[in-house]
Amino acid sequence: MKYISEFRQQDLARQLARAIAQTVDPDRHYRLMEFCGGHTHAIFRYGVQDLMPANVEFIHGPGCPVCVLPTGRIDNAIQLAERHDVILCTYADLMRVPATGRNSLLKAKAGGCDIRMVYSTQDVLKIARENPGRPVVFFAIGFETTTPPTAVAIQQAQAERLTNFSVFCNHVLTPAAMRAILDAPQPVAIDAFLGPSHVSTVIGSQAYEPFAERYAKPVVIAGFEPLDVMQSALMLIRQLNEGRHEVENEYSRAVTRQGNLKAQALMREIFKLRPQFEWRGLGLIADSALRLKTDYADFDAEQRFSLPAIQAADVKGCECPAILRGAKKPQDCKLLGTVCTPENPMGSCMVSSEGACAAYWSYGRLSRRSG
Ligand code: SF4
Repeated sequence: MKYISEFRQQDLARQLARAIAQTVDPDRHYRLMEFCGGHTHAIFRYGVQDLMPANVEFIHGPGCPVCVLPTGRIDNAIQLAERHDVILCTYADLMRVPATGRNSLLKAKAGGCDIRMVYSTQDVLKIARENPGRPVVFFAIGFETTTPPTAVAIQQAQAERLTNFSVFCNHVLTPAAMRAILDAPQPVAIDAFLGPSHVSTVIGSQAYEPFAERYAKPVVIAGFEPLDVMQSALMLIRQLNEGRHEVENEYSRAVTRQGNLKAQALMREIFKLRPQFEWRGLGLIADSALRLKTDYADFDAEQRFSLPAIQAADVKGCECPAILRGAKKPQDCKLLGTVCTPENPMGSCMVSSEGACAAYWSYGRLSRRSG
């Protein structure tokens, strides 16, 4: 398949592995954070870590929107379904994320709530059209990649006067999370970043230029195939060896420096920055999330249903918060593979198809580096 199979070729992977081995300085350790869960899964699914020299370490980042959503927001969504008789629509991964009291959207659905899995915002609009007498809420999550479709749905609902449609908005922003990782009181030692790929198709590689300059950290926008990850690692290692901290774009087949200007304009039209937003593992981060502008308040479920802010604890023993900061790895969690499995997830990192614990469980057992 074009743009996929040529980025999975074994002979090219071996060539890249040799180039990386020849480029690394044996006297230093290279700590590369891959921001996206898609990168983490590529690293484990294709054994990329095993092709790296021992002094090149991948540190898994918080780039999984399901994983970073705090428990309190799931509790809010369950409240919506239980107390306000709404039809709550969301993407499948969120259904099994643990909420307070071992609850989840899936359990609430089994208990009688009208919670529906959707594949797109267009599905939600269809449900709203078919149920004019009931409020329909889209539980929207995701980084800058999934924000434009939510914006389109809000515009469509306004144009169609779909007054029963609203959005519980949990869209978050990647550059703010990268800053928060390095601004933490006890930051994890990271030398360089594999930058988000799909997000960057929207916001462009230039969105990371202030970050690279301020923190003197190289960033390479990396695609999700194994050769993308290896080539990006090589580019980062070269930058580190040469003392550079630039934003480079390995994923040039999809990402430009400016990004998608139309999508950016649409996001600016519908959304505004929240002063702060809670991320699982990273705490409150300023200017890191979006909510609907006042002009679109009629479509804002938080306002329409007066949702309270809920502070909720994670499951005892679950190391998701530390894993999302890059401070721990899934094998540091005593629950991995014992109490916590994909069938019985204790934390969001095991539920999501982009979660680090799910990657270790699915592929890591075959890796000599995963422990
Ligand atoms: S293995 Fe399960 S309990 Fe442990 S950190 Fe991952 S999701 Fe949480």
